[in-house]
Amino acid sequence: MPNMNVRVRYGPSPTGEPHVGNIRTALFDWLLARRFGGQFIVRIEDTDQSRAVEGTEQLILDALTWLGLDWDEGPDIGGPFAPYRQSERLPMYAEAAQRLVEEASAYRCNCSSERLDALRKSQQKAKQPPGYDRRCRDLDVSAQEPHVVRLAMPSEGDTIVNDYLRGEVSFQNSLLDDHVLLKRDGFPTYHLASVVDDHHMQITHVIRGEEWLSSAPRHVQTYAALGWDEPAWVHIPIIRGPDGAKLSKRHGATSVRQYADEGFLPEALLNFLALLGWSKDETTTIMSRDEITEAFSLDGLGLASAMFDIERLREMNARYIRDLDPSDFLRRGRPHLETRVGSSVSDGALERLLPIAPAIQERVKLMPEFADYTDFFFTEGPLEYDNSELMGRAYRNKPWAALESVEASLKTLRSIDETEWTTPGLEAALRELASERGEKPGAVFTPIRVAATGKRIAPPLFETLETLGQALTVERLNAAAERLARPDD
Ligand code: GLU
Repeated sequence: MPNMNVRVRYGPSPTGEPHVGNIRTALFDWLLARRFGGQFIVRIEDTDQSRAVEGTEQLILDALTWLGLDWDEGPDIGGPFAPYRQSERLPMYAEAAQRLVEEASAYRCNCSSERLDALRKSQQKAKQPPGYDRRCRDLDVSAQEPHVVRLAMPSEGDTIVNDYLRGEVSFQNSLLDDHVLLKRDGFPTYHLASVVDDHHMQITHVIRGEEWLSSAPRHVQTYAALGWDEPAWVHIPIIRGPDGAKLSKRHGATSVRQYADEGFLPEALLNFLALLGWSKDETTTIMSRDEITEAFSLDGLGLASAMFDIERLREMNARYIRDLDPSDFLRRGRPHLETRVGSSVSDGALERLLPIAPAIQERVKLMPEFADYTDFFFTEGPLEYDNSELMGRAYRNKPWAALESVEASLKTLRSIDETEWTTPGLEAALRELASERGEKPGAVFTPIRVAATGKRIAPPLFETLETLGQALTVERLNAAAERLARPDD
């Protein structure tokens, strides 16, 4: 396969926020194109104008960009087969439909919607399969009348779809009706538009969800009628939630943007999505985009249904966060911190967090949590917390004992030489203090942690104090001592 000619297209309909299932198709397209040096094309399938939602084309492109899936041809950048929006390609569909009618492979139909409704109802009643009864197939409906164009499907025999993952899939023609190619308003249906575009755009592989497999015999017949070569068909398993049902909003976030907003990293989502239907081998799960691209082939796709396990995605995300370069981690965390503190955070201020970044990376599972572990470095004025938190378990209901401990800590912290204000220096001094006082380290450390950060759960204490600096640490411990000294607080 290495020198395979690959042109693949992602054909989203601009009807809403791009969904993860849909984006996974784009990912497989992109991977195949990048692996074999081919082209990845974005084509906006907007022939159903009643369902089109303004602005969603941009959301689709943004989602691809966020995941790092760049395209070679598309509605925004054009390309040799422009335009890349189906609504701008109407003459090509009309021409194909016209040729099919002239060659008697298709025909004009003027059945009214009332007639079609009545037909459907009577079929339902008689428990017959639904479908058009071909009334107009032998009539010569004039082009001047309002009409649709239908493909004259074979009524006997089978249509074989050669699917890459399934081999030959056979469909009984008697169960397939003469579907509409061109609607009354001159717009094509998906069935016609996708075939015409895939042919003109020289698409080699059609990768799409298996919900389209049942339409594939219609497409195969359209190719045959037009005398065109078919692309390779690759129908990938649909994504299911843990309950086995098709992934939907009920399973939580499903739009790519929601995952971004919740704090998933694009590389984690990409890795996770790649494994929904594809694998390199039985064991490898964590792979960078380059590694996936390198290993990707259609043969790695499988038919087992792809289960969307959000816990797995969370774990992967935590792992990716942990593995980020610390300065990259800080840069990505910055917007969350800025939202929390309500002001911008300078590069210099961010850099001060560099020594503590790896410890925070161990704890953050979703990027917005970055703010929980860093906001107190930027808080001006007193921190908010309860005295009970300050006292912790060791000094519960004993403010005087907590005060005594905080004062002893203060004394130690004040006496530390500036050059010793380091993680090991602080650790040695405070552990010694605890042992001198005959107390468990946790008893002494809890009030210091809460006083310095305002939280019981914070990054590791000594790294935190080192980053906070001696002056601010002492100031915050003083404030804590004052609070403890006021018994009615
Ligand atoms: N417009 C179709 C969709 O949004 C594309 C199907 C295909 O890839 O052929 O699902």
